[in-house]
Amino acid sequence: SLSSKNALVTGSTSGIGLAIARAFAAEGANVTINGLGDAAAIEQERARIEKDFGVKCRYSGANMMDGPAVTAMIHEAEEAFGSLDILVNNAGIQHVAPIDEFPDDKWEAIIRINLLAAFYAIKAALPGMKRRKWGRIINTASAHALVASPFKSAYVAAKHGIAGLTKTVALEVAQDGITVNAIAPGYVWTPLVEKQIPDTMKARGMTEEQVKHDVLLAAQPTKEFVTVEELAALTLFLCSDAAKQMTGTTLPMDGGWTAQ
Ligand code: NAD
Repeated sequence: SLSSKNALVTGSTSGIGLAIARAFAAEGANVTINGLGDAAAIEQERARIEKDFGVKCRYSGANMMDGPAVTAMIHEAEEAFGSLDILVNNAGIQHVAPIDEFPDDKWEAIIRINLLAAFYAIKAALPGMKRRKWGRIINTASAHALVASPFKSAYVAAKHGIAGLTKTVALEVAQDGITVNAIAPGYVWTPLVEKQIPDTMKARGMTEEQVKHDVLLAAQPTKEFVTVEELAALTLFLCSDAAKQMTGTTLPMDGGWTAQ
């Protein structure tokens, strides 16, 4: 149980982050959720976590593009709940283009949100974790932290960067009761992926099943999507006492993608 713990998950108004935040709450942790989106919809998700699990849930609208806002988000979460014990750096965006045509602002935004924000959050969260001699930091990487695909230079660079950051911080805090790991999903069934299907069906003249099997899951040997619940279960395991000797790892959950 995580009932004495306070957690923060960046990018948790949707998809993987929301499932992780709900899994923490189900184990009794108070959670700070974060992300962009419609204010009323976010408030509904926040209130639903409190109602479903009887924990405290607060929302931070901090933009992960903005370093000082990330730092302030961590300090506010710590003040509101009295500690920050579990930090999940999960917010992420993608843009697909050949590198010689890649828009500068998109490349910079991906590095800021997918990599730099994790640095600012970890930097702000560590002093409290060290004082309390307990902490769990989990970074959402990707199969693209281990292998590349063409046209995703910014994303692949940021996710490989996350794997390196994870190793380095793990070494720095190895004797402080703090573990630092990354999870590396393959293709996950999220609203983000679901929304790409109609356009791909049209563009390629394919059925929904063909798009899923032959396009999206082309690199995923199981030919099945990872689910957000499976990733949340892995994250919960990393927070458990059983995982206290696991640190500095980037753990694939990718249907065999990176075995190839
Ligand atoms: P999603 O789009 O459903 O969720 C992304 C979250 O990040 C949302 O809550 C969004 O509001 C938030 N976000 C985006 N920009 C932000 C900003 N500037 N400031 C604050 N929050 C911001 O996507 P997802 O699929 O759940 O992705 C979550 C993480 O998982 C990302 O790091 C992504 O790279 C990674 N991932 C996803 C997949 C996949 O197949 N879906 C695979 C591997 C890795």
